[in-house]
Amino acid sequence: MPTFKTVRGMRDFLPEEAEKMRYVEEAARETAKLYGFEEIITPVLESYELLSAKAGEELRERMYVFEDLGGRKIALRPEFTASIARLVATTLRNYPKPLRLFCVGSLYRYDEPQFGRYREFWQSNYELIGSDKPEADVEILALTNHLVASVGLKHYKFKIGHVGIIRGILSQEGIKEEKQTHIMHLLDKKEWNQTLQTLKEFKASRKCVKTLTQLIKTRGENPAEVVKTIKRHVEGYEAAATALENLNQILCLVEESKIGFDMTVEAGFARGLDYYTGMIFEVFVPEMKIAIGGGGRYDKLIQLFGGEPTPAVGVAHGIDRIALAMEKQKTPLKKPKEKKVLVIPLKEELKTRAIGIASAFRKAGIPTEIEVMGRTVSRALQDADRRNVGYAVLVAPKEMEKGKIILKNLAKREQQVLTVEEAIQSILNVKT
Ligand code: AMP
Repeated sequence: MPTFKTVRGMRDFLPEEAEKMRYVEEAARETAKLYGFEEIITPVLESYELLSAKAGEELRERMYVFEDLGGRKIALRPEFTASIARLVATTLRNYPKPLRLFCVGSLYRYDEPQFGRYREFWQSNYELIGSDKPEADVEILALTNHLVASVGLKHYKFKIGHVGIIRGILSQEGIKEEKQTHIMHLLDKKEWNQTLQTLKEFKASRKCVKTLTQLIKTRGENPAEVVKTIKRHVEGYEAAATALENLNQILCLVEESKIGFDMTVEAGFARGLDYYTGMIFEVFVPEMKIAIGGGGRYDKLIQLFGGEPTPAVGVAHGIDRIALAMEKQKTPLKKPKEKKVLVIPLKEELKTRAIGIASAFRKAGIPTEIEVMGRTVSRALQDADRRNVGYAVLVAPKEMEKGKIILKNLAKREQQVLTVEEAIQSILNVKT
């Protein structure tokens, strides 16, 4: 037999890693609840056509694409937003707005596996659909801030921009959308020189090249100051000025409502996905160069999928990357100590009783295992100790005759002879 291993880019999560992933997922669910987002579940497989429509060149090239047995061209989802836009354009078309939708699950991108970049990874994704107001953008920023803070991450920073500023300039220069998208991709890859070179090839005016040269350099931690500088640079470009005003309103709301997170505002910031139309952002921790989450406004996507014109703004957080950031920052998982119990029958004929007793503990809500390896008590206890099981229940003949068991507190190395009910109460009464 060959030795099987996981497919390149795929990972097994052992219990400790799985626990971390679920911990972040749980925090994401809590955040959804707090902000009024309802969970939906969409399929892992979607039509290639849907997923490739507005995903952007980079994502399109990295999709797992195949033909199913019915000859349909299918892809594994590389993101959630396309599926949600499909739903809003069809099934949820007549639902009252705003819609606040949350989903969590695995995504697939044929990226080169490296630190924090996997071919299968998990995201928590939130979409606020139906509002073009800056307060909707702020909700998405605020819930991201809440999630990142709630798992205990420190010193994280938002990077914020607005695609309408540069697109506005390019539109006014008569540069068609496709070419604009090409420019945005170059900006996303931080290929500044190439961006300016391409602008010249697209016959942009000297003023345009000069403005972009300045904008690329415009960034800072004081939002009001950055906005002022951008305003100076975009003079004469009306659509860009309107976009900047929209960004300014969002930043003022963040500032004045004292949501409180550190940020850098960057005029030349772009993201890989083509569908953004407004504010965009990413979140970073100082220990990692790659973003732990990112999102933005996309007001045209739902319409593109055949729906009513519907403004929307959303975010996706990388669950794997948040877990990685927690590791880097040595953030402890805030979890109650488990009150796990191992039930060990001391004699073959006490097995049935042991199973019944384990069942009573579980009914009381206490996680309980039963010894299934037929080991001696000392071996079973050794193993329980190694795995941090808190208590052992010994089902012994003499005690059983009196309807009692031996409850061992493994941490304290104490034991008591109790009825099952007393043992349950004694465990439940221990504060964790
Ligand atoms: P995107 O869908 O590209 O906007 O990405 C949103 C977030 O998903 C990123 O900020 C990352 O945290 C996470 N992410 C994206 N691609 C990967 C990947 N290949 N591996 C792990 N996490 C990823």
